Amino acid sequence: MTSTSPPEIGYGLGGKTVWVTGASRGLGSRVAAALVHHGAKVAVTARGADALDRLAEELGDSVVALPGSVSSAEDVNGVVDRIVERFGTLDVLINNAGISPTYLKAADLPEQAWRETIDTNLTGAFLCAQSAGRVMTGNGGGVIVNISSMYGRVGGDRLVAYAASKGGLEALTRTLALEWAPYGVRVNAVAPGYLRTDLTNGLLDHERHGAELLERVPLNRFGETADVVPSILHLASPLSGYTTGATLVVDGGWTAQ
Ligand code: NAD
Repeated sequence: MTSTSPPEIGYGLGGKTVWVTGASRGLGSRVAAALVHHGAKVAVTARGADALDRLAEELGDSVVALPGSVSSAEDVNGVVDRIVERFGTLDVLINNAGISPTYLKAADLPEQAWRETIDTNLTGAFLCAQSAGRVMTGNGGGVIVNISSMYGRVGGDRLVAYAASKGGLEALTRTLALEWAPYGVRVNAVAPGYLRTDLTNGLLDHERHGAELLERVPLNRFGETADVVPSILHLASPLSGYTTGATLVVDGGWTAQ
């Protein structure tokens, strides 16, 4: 390297212990793979063991599969205990598990679907942050990245429970950021627009709804998980060491309108 070469910037995540929830597929599995690539030790959680085991096998020895539901405090606390047992600490939580089980107008939404959505997307994220936060505040440092959505910021047709859960997640982000700043724990969020995953493929490929949604994306395409992973790594990294309580929006321009 000559004195005029630009410095090489890495994410500084090598050797860090990172917990990714909702990692059996979609965005979570891509984040886990990227973290391994950048030298992190990674614990992956989702409800079923099979897909997680396959992912851990594919990604190698630095990954441990720890099944559990984020909406069960017992599961969450058990997973955090096992992460600390296995890796000695917990540096970063990526709160990614999320569901959107219905596409119904508010008047038609069954109470059970509302509760299930809030339970996973908001209560689940809180329980994981609370449990990981106990370790991080005790250590005097850590990072939490909550995966929100553009619908945490703007209304979404037929998505009342999902939007409310993500709006709540952003309020949680700001409040935990303030509460834990004195302990060196940063809490931020990433708010993606539509990404192609199992969660959305049916909707995005729907002849009428898919075309209507695409028309509203200023960059004129749906996102891919690869569009969002670098923003998540950035917020997990010491590169963003002066950022807390913030949301990084990655939505092709949707919320700029
Ligand atoms: P996905 O459905 O492909 O994956 C969701 C993951 O969460 C799966 O691994 C699933 O097993 C897991 N999960 C669900 N409930 C769980 C629970 N109770 N406990 C533990 N794990 C659980 O979805 P995705 O598209 O990869 O979404 C990941 C995150 O990104 C979600 O929070 C979602 O709301 C958010 N998001 C997605 C999009 C999109 O367009 N795909 C847009 C904005 C935000």
